[in-house]
Amino acid sequence: MTEAGGTEAGGRRAIVVGGSMGGLFAGLLLRRAGWEVVICERAGEALASRGAGIVTHPELHEAMVAAGADPGDALGVEVEGRIVLDRDGTALCRMELPQILTSWGRAYRFLRAACPDGIYRHGKALARIDQAPGRVTAHFADGTAETGDLLVAADGILSTARRQLLPSAEPAYAGYCAWRGLVDEDELSPAAHDRLLRHVAFCLPPREQMLGYPVAGANEDIRPGHRRFNFVWYRPVDRETGLRHLFTSADGRDYGTAIPPHRIREDVIAGMRADADQLLAPEFAEAVRRTRSPFLQAIFDLETPAMAVGRVALLGDAAFVARPHVGMGVTKAAGDAMALVRALGTAPDIDAALAAYDAERREYGARVIRRARHLGAYMQAQVLSDDERAQAERHRSPEAVMTETAVSTGLERW
Ligand SMILES: Cc1cc2nc3c(=O)[nH]c(=O)nc-3n(C[C@H](O)[C@H](O)[C@H](O)COP(=O)(O)OP(=O)(O)OC[C@H]3O[C@@H](n4cnc5c(N)ncnc54)[C@H](O)[C@@H]3O)c2cc1C
Repeated sequence: MTEAGGTEAGGRRAIVVGGSMGGLFAGLLLRRAGWEVVICERAGEALASRGAGIVTHPELHEAMVAAGADPGDALGVEVEGRIVLDRDGTALCRMELPQILTSWGRAYRFLRAACPDGIYRHGKALARIDQAPGRVTAHFADGTAETGDLLVAADGILSTARRQLLPSAEPAYAGYCAWRGLVDEDELSPAAHDRLLRHVAFCLPPREQMLGYPVAGANEDIRPGHRRFNFVWYRPVDRETGLRHLFTSADGRDYGTAIPPHRIREDVIAGMRADADQLLAPEFAEAVRRTRSPFLQAIFDLETPAMAVGRVALLGDAAFVARPHVGMGVTKAAGDAMALVRALGTAPDIDAALAAYDAERREYGARVIRRARHLGAYMQAQVLSDDERAQAERHRSPEAVMTETAVSTGLERW
């Protein structure tokens, strides 16, 4: 085994595990605060976008500026507001709400460009963590190790660090899945383009929700004419037969809750497209029809009982994963990193800083989860009693969905 690191005289050293959004935010902010940083990413090569959209909030922009990855006014595509479409395409309601939507790949590019290659290591899969008073060692699958004063676990929903330190916290299936897809804007008819590219648009079939918005196109291009329309269609799927039906490939392999897009069966995709024609506004049905490679995502809740264990800080999806209705995944990871570095700069020592971080961000994460559960409750396949379902159904009004989905304000009420 080779070991790198150890605390330098007077300096503070952080090992960041995971080099996606959360890890990059943490690494860049710590470095700017004077820490020696190494970011250890499992993937052997540059991370590639899954191609789907993300909603941005002002807090995300602020964190990018603080991290030295200022996107200026080029983070994404601006829409003018929101619109809810009925099955026949009638606009049920509208709301003015300018918002920037982007692709994961575009936001990642700004952060990665701000990160010197020397501190970012590929092919480093965390296997195990050892702790001694005041120090922490990360052991990697390739036999190497890194030691420091702090380990930031930004290794996502299936976090190796969390599974070792807090094994009781596991993702829980929410009872529904999302069909997702992208279509180049020039493939949409003028009528669909006009409605779908200027808004965050919704359609609300019984116990389902379709929403879509423009995002960057090929090569993360945000110029008009080069963008894509991105949709997310939530549908109840029961845990046993429903999941098995959707996630089993043509050769009979059951992929559980994560199937590569090219393994989804033709009949499953054809059924989904036929349902789109039956259930959705014509603009959305058209977008579904023209999407070449739709993909499936099962929806989970994950809640950690602690965000700091010894000298390990959990961050981003490693700690809390909320249903996507809050549109907070990347912004929450950025906010965690900002709070961690702020606490390290103001608390008397690292242990006090981690205690402060744990208190602040655990409460915040729990609020995000509660709000997201509430927003998605009416779509759950089999988890709710009739009473609970009736409660949840009341929340399904077009106005409520339109005003509460993917906004970062009002969290204090949860
Ligand atoms: C390649 C990629 C594409 C994505 N695309 C989208 C998208 O299009 N839309 C969207 O809404 N969200 C997307 N996400 C998820 C989104 O980034 C997160 O929901 C959110 O930003 C929180 O980020 P995170 O850094 O906490 O977790 P994640 O983004 O999940 O990152 C976790 C990172 O840790 C690494 N990792 C995992 N285990 C280990 C280990 N044992 N050792 C070392 N490293 C490890 C993973 O390879 C990954 O890079 C994507 C994530 C990735 C990794």
